[in-house]
Amino acid sequence: MRIGVAGIAGRMGRLVADEIVLAGATLSGGTSLEADTPPEGTTLFPTIARLAAVSDAVIDFTHVSTVHGHAAGLAGARTAWILGTTGLSALDQDAVEEAATAIAVIQAANFSPGVNLVLALARQLGAALPADAYDAEIVEMHHRQKVDAPSGTALALGRAVAAGRAVRFEDAAVIGRAGHTGPRPQGGIGFAALRGGQVVGDHTLIFAAGDEQITLTHRALDRRAFARGAVRAALWTAGKAPGRYTMMDVLGMETTA
Ligand code: NAD
Repeated sequence: MRIGVAGIAGRMGRLVADEIVLAGATLSGGTSLEADTPPEGTTLFPTIARLAAVSDAVIDFTHVSTVHGHAAGLAGARTAWILGTTGLSALDQDAVEEAATAIAVIQAANFSPGVNLVLALARQLGAALPADAYDAEIVEMHHRQKVDAPSGTALALGRAVAAGRAVRFEDAAVIGRAGHTGPRPQGGIGFAALRGGQVVGDHTLIFAAGDEQITLTHRALDRRAFARGAVRAALWTAGKAPGRYTMMDVLGMETTA
């Protein structure tokens, strides 16, 4: 399979290029902003359409400003799109959905297989454990540079629990506590965010009952987990019909969100 890398000079793009070769697939080349230096020996293409023309799938960890152009270029060439770029607006998302009528698109805010499996388990636990007896709490820790809280993955965990419980996430979420908060609301899904050092991403989901406690923890140690997941997703697109898929589809798990 021929796999291209949009943003091949980036932190993620470099790792993805490595992982394509390690997986035994063909690295067809990449795109990059001129200011950035791609890995040595890379075949660079001036446009996404030129890269798409020589690729069966393109893995994309770039910038949200590329989404409309990439949607058109990849759909035009009938090349599968593995989209890891985050921060999309509703209009950007519309362009993704439009592309997915012509090509297979796998979109995930977190390509780590481990996180996606934890999301599936969170939904199952949410469905199995009665909300009036098992209090759901989510604790996450990230490096000191992170600007948003709670993390997107923490929110996805909360959404998975809410989906399992068949409640609206917005009604159940309790994001942070301070001062005289009163007792915990029954069925609430609580969040706490810690920041410090260079923690890549720790997430813990707790179901606390009076007589037992269940704890699920995911710890990202290296960005390579995301790169490896994205390559796995690219390989999975071989022979797939057009549509928008998630990592849950790649992993053969039920969709959580
Ligand atoms: P980065 O800044 O290191 O790399 C981005 C690269 O995109 C740059 O090298 C730049 O040259 C390239 N780029 C930007 N505009 C381009 C264009 N028009 N054409 C071609 N290349 C272009 O960033 P990063 O840390 O690699 O992250 C990139 C994106 O991936 C971000 O949106 C980030 O949030 C997301 N991300 C997602 C996951 C996931 O699992 N889904 C994991 C990590 C990062």
